[in-house]
Order: sequence, then C-alpha cells, then structure tokens
Amino acid sequence: MDCIFCKIASKKVPSTIVLETDDLVVIKDISPQAPVHLLVIPKRHYATLLECEDKTLLGSIFEAAKDAAKDAGVAESGFRTVVNTNEEGGQTVAHLHMHLLGGRQLTGRMG
Ligand code: AMP
Ligand code: ZN
Repeated sequence: MDCIFCKIASKKVPSTIVLETDDLVVIKDISPQAPVHLLVIPKRHYATLLECEDKTLLGSIFEAAKDAAKDAGVAESGFRTVVNTNEEGGQTVAHLHMHLLGGRQLTGRMG
C-alpha cells in the first residue's frame, strides 16, 4: 500500500524514531508545530481513528504518548495529544496517528 506512515513504520522511509514497540513507533514530526512534536504511529494500517476497533492498540497509543512525553521532558510541564480525523478534522495523512505536542510555542494549524 502506498502509505507514507506504513513505509515509516516498516522503515522503508527514514524517520527519527524516538520510541518503538511491537505495535507502534513514535517519530519526530517533519514539520514541528511546537518544540516537542512527536507522532505515535501504529504499525498496522488504519486509515482513521474510526476504522480502529482494537482497544488494546488504542490504549497502547496513549501509553506510548505518556512514555514519549516523559522521555522528551515535557510530562511535568505539560503536553497535548491530538488525533485529527478526516478532512474537517485536519487529517492530512490517512493512517491513524496521535500528535504529541509540548514545550508550548504552538504555531499554525495546531495552535
Ligand atoms: P495530520 O495532519 O494530523 O494527518 O498530521 C500529519 C503529520 O504528519 C503532519 O504534522 C506532518 O508534518 C507529518 N508528516 C508528514 N510526512 C511526514 C514524514 N515523512 N515524517 C514525519 N512527519 C511527517
Ligand atoms: Zn498506512
């Protein structure tokens, strides 16, 4: 499938991976909207949040966001977790992912 996040998760396309489990990777966003801007990307393809009924995986995405926030040093200061869904939700990549934004300085469409 021609999906950029499938390729990133399978390492066919390079990215900066900061955390990896059997089910997901956490990478640095290529166009950061905050000092810390990470993406939690499940390895299995779901086009949107609506397609995913795997509650274990959905829980794992939140757990990974918590771990990555601690590792990035923004857990105490604070961070946002965002899942954009479909066009009017601002989703541009049709592969389920969670944004983790911290360190303030939010700009552009994430602000
Ligand atoms: P969304 O608009 O919620 O679908 O978010 C997609 C995010 O993926 C945007 O913040 C992009 O900057 C980011 N993005 C797109 N391509 C890449 C890439 N190759 N590596 C890292 N982040 C990417
Ligand atoms: Zn995909």
